[in-house]
Amino acid sequence: MSVILIHTDRFAEHQTPPGHPERPERAEVLDALAARWRERGSEVVAPRAASREQLLRVHDGDYVRRISETAGRATALDPDTYTSPESYEIALLAAGACVDGVERVMANAHEAACALVRPPGHHAERSRAMGFCLFNNVAVAAAHARSNGARRVAIVDFDVHHGNGTQHIFEADPHVLYVSTHQYPYYPGTGAAEEVGRDAGRGFTVNLPLEVGAVDEDYQLAFSRIIVPVLRQFEPDLLIVSAGFDAHERDPLGGMRVSTAAFAAMMRDLRAVADECCRGRIVAAVEGGYDLHALGTSLDGAIDALAGPAQPAEWPASGIHSSRGEAAVAATSAAIRAFWRV
Ligand SMILES: [Zn+2]
Repeated sequence: MSVILIHTDRFAEHQTPPGHPERPERAEVLDALAARWRERGSEVVAPRAASREQLLRVHDGDYVRRISETAGRATALDPDTYTSPESYEIALLAAGACVDGVERVMANAHEAACALVRPPGHHAERSRAMGFCLFNNVAVAAAHARSNGARRVAIVDFDVHHGNGTQHIFEADPHVLYVSTHQYPYYPGTGAAEEVGRDAGRGFTVNLPLEVGAVDEDYQLAFSRIIVPVLRQFEPDLLIVSAGFDAHERDPLGGMRVSTAAFAAMMRDLRAVADECCRGRIVAAVEGGYDLHALGTSLDGAIDALAGPAQPAEWPASGIHSSRGEAAVAATSAAIRAFWRV
């Protein structure tokens, strides 16, 4: 089994106010999955905390200090982002788990790693917490990979929300490709097809904005026509996945109709590209996903896809007619045609 899971039951210690969707019960889903995969023979290891040096590659020093000062206290960082006394420490473990995954995969100790973490990270900006996120876990991981010899790192984000933080942190960097599928228009407001990066990073941000209600076939089209071809041309040394499961049909926040099986298909497609381009090196990190049952089953299928063996993804068919995928692919193709053959 070539997938390693990075997990600790401490992720439940980050508390949010009653009724908050990003709740400690999500950690119990992660605990159960870690236990199940350990029984199936996978290695499960506890993360180390991310270091200050690792955080400072993508966050401002003042911001890191401000978050560290929430230790021992309950605070509101923005209208939906909160800390409890342990949150700082737990957020360090979430970012550190992603760093651990990168180190193990870059050292070829394992082909694939999955960081079973909370809080999520992709909304966290260089100097601002938002959208339940404190530190940008995948950005810290991508920057760590770059500092440790990866020339090109690709981040694919299939969370239902656009990863504004990740996009902004790398938007001028041609060595880190950011590709996102997301409900649009929707929180946080960014992620239009025309946002393609800036300066030297132009072309290295690829957004696939999907209208609310998108189904499996829309995602399949986005993957086959844009995501996979762009990844093949970029030829990353490492593929990082912001794996959010809130596009699931049961999710209370997202408005999409993605099935459990489609998340496995997405991960199988990504694993196949990683096999082609970067010796199978792929690190997935959990982002959103707020229906506990959907989170558990979808993430289980995604881990199974990561574990391999590599095989062509069999995409499920919803049978629902939708032109949302065609519309997103058309908009994105027009926006990125100058940079990629799609
Ligand atoms: Zn989300």
